[in-house]
Amino acid sequence: MRDWLSHRVRASPDGTALVRAATGESWTFAELDGLVEETAGRLAALGVEPGDHLGTVLGPRVEYVALIHAAMRLGVTLVPMGDSLTVPELRGQVVTADVTALVCDAETEAVAADVADAAAVPLVSVDAPATQGTVHLADVLPDSVTPASWSFDDVQLLLFTSGTTGDPKAVKLTTGNLLASAVASVFRLGFDPEDRWLVTLSLHHMGGIAPVLRMPLYGMTVVLREEFDAGDAADDVDRFDVTAVSLVPTMLRRMLDSRGTLGSSLRAVLLGGAPAPRELVERCRDYSVPVYPTYGMTETASQMATATPSEAFEHAGTVGRPLFWTDVTVVGGDGERLPPGETGEFVVDGPTVSPGYYGDPEATSDAFGERGLRTGDVGYVDDGGRLYVLNRVDDRIITGGENVDPGEVADVLRSHPDVRDAAVVGVPDEEWGERVSALVVPEGDELDRDALVEFARERLAGFKLPRVVAVADELPRTVSGTVRRGAVRELLAEWED
Ligand code: ATP
Ligand code: MG
Repeated sequence: MRDWLSHRVRASPDGTALVRAATGESWTFAELDGLVEETAGRLAALGVEPGDHLGTVLGPRVEYVALIHAAMRLGVTLVPMGDSLTVPELRGQVVTADVTALVCDAETEAVAADVADAAAVPLVSVDAPATQGTVHLADVLPDSVTPASWSFDDVQLLLFTSGTTGDPKAVKLTTGNLLASAVASVFRLGFDPEDRWLVTLSLHHMGGIAPVLRMPLYGMTVVLREEFDAGDAADDVDRFDVTAVSLVPTMLRRMLDSRGTLGSSLRAVLLGGAPAPRELVERCRDYSVPVYPTYGMTETASQMATATPSEAFEHAGTVGRPLFWTDVTVVGGDGERLPPGETGEFVVDGPTVSPGYYGDPEATSDAFGERGLRTGDVGYVDDGGRLYVLNRVDDRIITGGENVDPGEVADVLRSHPDVRDAAVVGVPDEEWGERVSALVVPEGDELDRDALVEFARERLAGFKLPRVVAVADELPRTVSGTVRRGAVRELLAEWED
């Protein structure tokens, strides 16, 4: 099969492919195809060849959308990397993924130039370059390109995980993985050419890149908001009759805070990347926002389970049922399969599951086994087949020999009216092994911490009570919205009243 855009352009050349939210400029599939052809031609002229690993370090922007499809046209494996990484972080990813050329923009050029220099790879910018040796893509005379042909097993993307539990891992995603996940998603959510998908998540994570990749497959329009601003994103919904959007919980909360509700053209607000706070889902119910809590990870090429709004409202905390083709089992500590209602680790199998981590056979054999991918997430399935994600395997707290589920404690704290958000971790303790500690974001100016502990005492066994309650304006989070538990732990270990 050739790149998805070249198939789409024959089917509906005049359909709208892309809209730039900030200006309202738009591109039909034929126009986007022209841009992609030109981009691919320039990269080819620079010596980029099929099989190369093309690293991209730039924010969500039109040129990035063109690069994603140009890589596919050229038969190049794309390696999207975070645009806020530091030199050592970026260097690590360039080395891990064997990147052969890097593309940056004006914002990322300084960092990328350092890395390109150290790793001896060529650097290309989509903006006018500021450093010597950086090539301006627009200055290159394009070669003509023969569209590459992809098989299901070809690795199309190397996508880094968020690095919540350790160093980010480079996940191999094949054409087959991406296609299976696109099809499974459309079976559940029915995307078609009438859809307009607002993209405002970073394109180096699955949630952001998935709609950009799928746009020619579904024939839908991507409305691209380059800089996330909650009010502007909420206004985009009305301005462009947006029907779908993927958000992490923090973004949705800010959008609701800024505009109260969201436009009625929306039919699917996919919410994932991190646990959706109960209060946020309740607000969606009260304001008729069609929220679809989803659960997925880089290794499953986007969401693997999704709840409908009515499921989400009726079954608080669920992330819904697995998508088509995906099998989820819950396994106990000895690898035994657990029945509904019992808590264990999720193991996932199916055609969307990656073949493994690039250049890391050890991590691959740790996580990918005969029964599928060990997700590292703890949860259970209810009698109706709905999934509930509780926490990560590594997050369990053991205090005085008792197991504490940090999610349960955080839920209780969050249910207090003066608490907006909370994270609970175990901090090393000489006497208890670990002590339960909480970082709390207050709802207003005042938070009576003693009263909060008393509130928790009425709802939780004594050993689960937080010994330390610290306050902060925000929880430290990764760009995907997951809480950086290591950072919370460090903060709490040093906390003194
Ligand atoms: P790393 O694998 O490097 O530690 P990561 O797992 O955070 O980082 P991603 O692949 O971006 O990297 O995130 C997937 C993880 O995000 C899931 O394994 C899960 O822990 C969490 N997650 C995603 N969606 C949800 C959700 N709806 N509820 C709770 N957790 C979620
Ligand atoms: Mg992970």
